[in-house]
Amino acid sequence: MESSVLSIFNTIYASQPVTRRALSDITGLSPNRVGSLVSQLTGANLVLEDAPQDGTPGRPAALLSVNSRVAQVVGIDVGARHSRAVLTDAAGRVLTSAVHVTRTVPNRETIVQDLLNLIEEVCAAHGALYRLTALGIGIQGIVDTHTGSVLDWPSAPGWAEAWRGLHVVELLEEKLDVRPIIVDDSVRAMGETARRFGRAAGASNFLYVFLGNGIGSAVFADGRLYAGSHGIAGEVGHVTVDEEGPWCSCGNRGCLEVMASTAAVLRRARERLAEPRLMSALRDRFVNDELTLSTVIEAALTGDKVAFQILDETGTFVGKVLAIALNILGPELVVLGGPLAQAEEILLDAVERQVRLRALPHVWKQVSIICDDQGELAGAQGAALRALDTLFSSNTYLERIVPHVVTP
Ligand SMILES: [Zn+2]
Repeated sequence: MESSVLSIFNTIYASQPVTRRALSDITGLSPNRVGSLVSQLTGANLVLEDAPQDGTPGRPAALLSVNSRVAQVVGIDVGARHSRAVLTDAAGRVLTSAVHVTRTVPNRETIVQDLLNLIEEVCAAHGALYRLTALGIGIQGIVDTHTGSVLDWPSAPGWAEAWRGLHVVELLEEKLDVRPIIVDDSVRAMGETARRFGRAAGASNFLYVFLGNGIGSAVFADGRLYAGSHGIAGEVGHVTVDEEGPWCSCGNRGCLEVMASTAAVLRRARERLAEPRLMSALRDRFVNDELTLSTVIEAALTGDKVAFQILDETGTFVGKVLAIALNILGPELVVLGGPLAQAEEILLDAVERQVRLRALPHVWKQVSIICDDQGELAGAQGAALRALDTLFSSNTYLERIVPHVVTP
């Protein structure tokens, strides 16, 4: 296939729905040239055209989108507790999903078998009609984006050994006739979902920060994911917050992850509540060993001072690290995601206080910091999106499905 046809296809995929005029502006090609390339794609049914709407003044331009049926992709988000999978169409829209409890058995064979079971289930749920064309896997450990190898998984001690150095792509390629298979960090995948379907839509320079059992971020610069030379840029969870703080699983002390993760919130809550005279709505939960992040957030939102202080401190730690990141990267937007983002205003107030205190005024005055509203499938969906990007980045797949689309 002619490279410019592929290039137009990818531009439509990235900007859909899009008009011919916008394609001309984006690519710098003449309207006639764009028209000719688009006709090849519509002729081969790779791209569909929405008929112009009647009833508006002038003749509205037709909107072009990739035919959502040209690919079916599975995305998986492997977490230390749950693994979630989605089947998406070629536009990355979720068709169906499945969730399994992750078996944290330190054994490479079970890791691969569990991934295969999840893929089979999510495909079966949508009927045999759908043929799998690509697979993306997001892992909540430290993953080299460039090679797909799992470097470490500090927030899953005990299990990390089985994952460290695991070449998931090679192992799955032996079992599945699906190409491409890509592996990436779950947080980068979530950032991709936020950019395409969520609260970062339209942003070119932004940070997506995940605050949960692990803490990490995805850096987007000039509309693209930035992973750095080593493929792991964005590991904000291992920036030092307190040199005298608790030991982090990475081997350092007082990293953001050990100060502000879900486990850190619960650890501080237990420490406070160990003081028997302290009044708190969390007391019963503590006594019954029922403390969770949700119960702490719920108590704080309904006015419990102890719960509020714990979350305020947590936001302060996050804000200190964000102030550094903002000075270095200067993004237009920060999206805070993960379970801690349910604390919304409490978290945002504390974060913004630190950012105003520590970042340059020129930087903090021009950045919006917001909480994410994505559901639990964002990581799996983002992994599918990353796989789709790879699928469409070469013409191998498109040539296979439409052999008659050739140079004019
Ligand atoms: Zn660390």
